[in-house]
Amino acid sequence: EDEDLAVLEEAEGETEERGPSGLPVLAVVGRPNVGKSTFVNRVLGRREAVVQDTPGVTRDRVSYPAEWAGRRFTLVDTGGWETDVAGIDASVAQQAEVAIAMADAVMFVVDATVGPTDTDEQVVRLLRRSGKPVVLVANKVDSPVQEADASLLWSLGLGEPYPVSALHGRGSGDVLDAAMAVLPRVSAVAGRIPEGGPRRVALVGRPNVGKSSLLNSLAGAERVVVHETAGTTRDPVDELIVLGDRPWWFVDTAGIRRRVHQTSGADFYASLRTQAALEKAEVAVVLVDASVPMTEQDTRVIQQVIDSGRALVVAYNKWDLMDEDRRPFLEREIELDLVQVQWAPRINVSARTGWHTNRLVKALETALDSWDTRIPTGRLNAFLGELTAAHPHPVRGGKQPRILFATQPSNRPPRFVIFATGFIEAGYRRFIENRLREHFGFEGSPIEISVRVRE
Ligand code: GDP
Ligand code: GDP
Repeated sequence: EDEDLAVLEEAEGETEERGPSGLPVLAVVGRPNVGKSTFVNRVLGRREAVVQDTPGVTRDRVSYPAEWAGRRFTLVDTGGWETDVAGIDASVAQQAEVAIAMADAVMFVVDATVGPTDTDEQVVRLLRRSGKPVVLVANKVDSPVQEADASLLWSLGLGEPYPVSALHGRGSGDVLDAAMAVLPRVSAVAGRIPEGGPRRVALVGRPNVGKSSLLNSLAGAERVVVHETAGTTRDPVDELIVLGDRPWWFVDTAGIRRRVHQTSGADFYASLRTQAALEKAEVAVVLVDASVPMTEQDTRVIQQVIDSGRALVVAYNKWDLMDEDRRPFLEREIELDLVQVQWAPRINVSARTGWHTNRLVKALETALDSWDTRIPTGRLNAFLGELTAAHPHPVRGGKQPRILFATQPSNRPPRFVIFATGFIEAGYRRFIENRLREHFGFEGSPIEISVRVRE
């Protein structure tokens, strides 16, 4: 008994700081080529070249788990965004605006060898307006001689410029210390989803799948758009829409309604936008265009939802474009495409005609119920006991790890910690996940399983 309690407490301590949600968010912003990616790689301690020398190549990830001086945080990297030459100022500002909005503190990177540019000044205005803490990184100060360059950046009015060479690592510890000093311990933006009140939905998907059409259709179908909150000075960010018989927050809709300038970096911009919306949402509806084959970008958005630990509904849109005789084939195709997320509720809709959009509510409710689920420790262990007795872990190298005990320290999404006597291989973990799903449902929710080995 006592031991179980101790284990439970240990598990709770562990998961509290673990999930991506709730950790403070530090964003790295600045013009292209100032060295953001190089800096981020240094912080993450990665040696491999994520720095892209090929223009137009974008990375798919936006935020990374990071750690400095024993503190864990989420690092948002905007370095992969290619801007088009014509609209460069507008693009940098747009990108910075999103990144700042989703951050608790910002590291603003400036190229000290170039000095402040007009674009830098523009970003400074955004930073000021946001009121968020800023640490000024004067990058490319590769030697002490160049430190004079860094001090010119006092003129930006952001306080002390920290001379850094992201390339060689010079000064990066000091600037990270400075960032930790201003980064709040508890995030004000991430994972702070208010309990109670309308549930929060993000409509996500690659450009042109029909997000804005669906939003309009949902807002129009029901007589009321109750009201809008002003998130920034200009844009209504979240909209309250009544569906079924209750209101829902559709979060971060400004980016959907305002047609984003399409640049060669639109991909990256879209995934940054998705990330920002996911931070605020409990459940995501991933829209997929049913009239064309599924793309890698669609898969990536789905993965982003799973990684962020949000509940998931997949909506195949533009169903009105489908020929009757193509439908059976499409159904099979879709099943293959979604094999990794068979657990997600799927609906086929047409945002244009409104067909089946009324099915969204039930799918959202199902996914959220799963996301909220807590399984009492007794039931969980009764189930696992039977399962592992009937299907023990395979013997490896003469050893057979045993599962001792499991607990679910948190929900939203459900997180499980399994204590075992040895390494549990991936295949067996998947087996447990599948059986957990079969037994307890979890339709529409990712679940996390971690294993602790006790000697
Ligand atoms: P980003 O577009 O802001 O992400 O910039 P990158 O990280 O891709 O860097 C742009 C270029 O600047 C690359 O060629 C880097 O090797 C170079 N660079 C980055 N940091 C430093 C630095 O501290 N010193 C010098 N000399 N070059 C750097
Ligand atoms: P977003 O970029 O994801 O917000 O996509 P939009 O809502 O702007 O839609 C992109 C294009 O697809 C527009 O031309 C829409 O009219 C069209 N579209 C959206 N939903 C549907 C649909 O259900 N059926 C058809 N036929 N076209 C649609």
